[in-house]
Amino acid sequence: MSDPVYLDYNATTPVAPEVLEAMLPYLREVYGNPSSSHVYGRSAYDGIDRARKEVAKLLGAHVEEIVFTGCATEASNIAILGVMRALGSIKRHVITSAIEHPAVLQPCLRLREDGWDVTILSVDQTGRIDPEAVARVIRADTALVSIMQANNEIGTVQPIAEIARIAHSHGALMHTDAAQSVGKIVVDVKALGVDLLSIAGHKFYAPKGVGALYIRKNTPIASVIVGADHERGVRPGTENVPAIAGLGAAAKIARERLAASTAHLRQMRDLLHHRLAEAIPGLILNGHPELRLPNTLNVSFPGVTGRALLEAAEADVAASLGSACHSESDTVSGVLAALGATIEQALGAVRLSVGTPTTTRDVARAAKALIAAYAKIHR
Ligand code: PLP
Repeated sequence: MSDPVYLDYNATTPVAPEVLEAMLPYLREVYGNPSSSHVYGRSAYDGIDRARKEVAKLLGAHVEEIVFTGCATEASNIAILGVMRALGSIKRHVITSAIEHPAVLQPCLRLREDGWDVTILSVDQTGRIDPEAVARVIRADTALVSIMQANNEIGTVQPIAEIARIAHSHGALMHTDAAQSVGKIVVDVKALGVDLLSIAGHKFYAPKGVGALYIRKNTPIASVIVGADHERGVRPGTENVPAIAGLGAAAKIARERLAASTAHLRQMRDLLHHRLAEAIPGLILNGHPELRLPNTLNVSFPGVTGRALLEAAEADVAASLGSACHSESDTVSGVLAALGATIEQALGAVRLSVGTPTTTRDVARAAKALIAAYAKIHR
């Protein structure tokens, strides 16, 4: 019996073979500290430099606007808390949304505990934020608007460029969490018009434990983590050189193959959706029907819980209930609750996310197993 089909690429991705190759020299012979001035240090520094160029190219940024971090959570914490620390004496309002990842929501809630005003915007039934809603709540003392580019559970893509225009016209800065969108759709900081943008390596075939923060030139940001002057003092701590080299290689692949991989992901996802919808009457698609990540299929199976379904199909399919972070309990996903899903719809939800290695055979096997599991447990 072969391993179950992996349909959890929004939780994390495997490391691409080319990425591993790019990392290996930095785990073997190039072990110098990139801050050292001798040849060992310079070789490690050059590796970081090359990776920074690739990440900048992928995002349409300048090289000096990229800061490497330990993960997307760290990037978003530094962005939100750093801007707040820089502007806190003049502005004390932040706007975010109800469907943000905890990497953004939690630092915003921390600010609220510290006396900041935090507006949490609701979303429509498809998970979209209306830019007009941002326009209605933005104020002269709004320091930052932080809205994710694409949601991890349902894949809905937000109108970031429009929201950024509104933020800027009121003198506020704009941050977006692009952890899920990078490598799946175009992520261009200039087209989006954002001041800050977070990414995570392990969502696009680089290793876990590395991310990056784009900080547009001249954006006010104060230190959140203090130490030496690595990464321009924004993220002090000796750089994880092998992981950064891997992130650079993954960024190059994402840029060069984006059009082909977007098309492939969409084809695999839609085939899976088609197979399931054909066999299961009443299957509900959660998220936006079109403005959605090409790899993400969040569907509610009627009359069963997603947990029971995935347990019954676990020999053939590895997928997720809503978000990987909440998989230990049957509590309703905050994202689905924000869409106005019924309890039955929320408990019946399964997130199936395909990746570039997903094949039509994988989709056929997974669909067959999910349909059989549904027939077995549904009464
Ligand atoms: N933001 C989004 C939208 C995510 O999906 C995730 C990971 O699930 C994160 C942030 C956190 O990423 P990391 O694990 O690299 O901190």
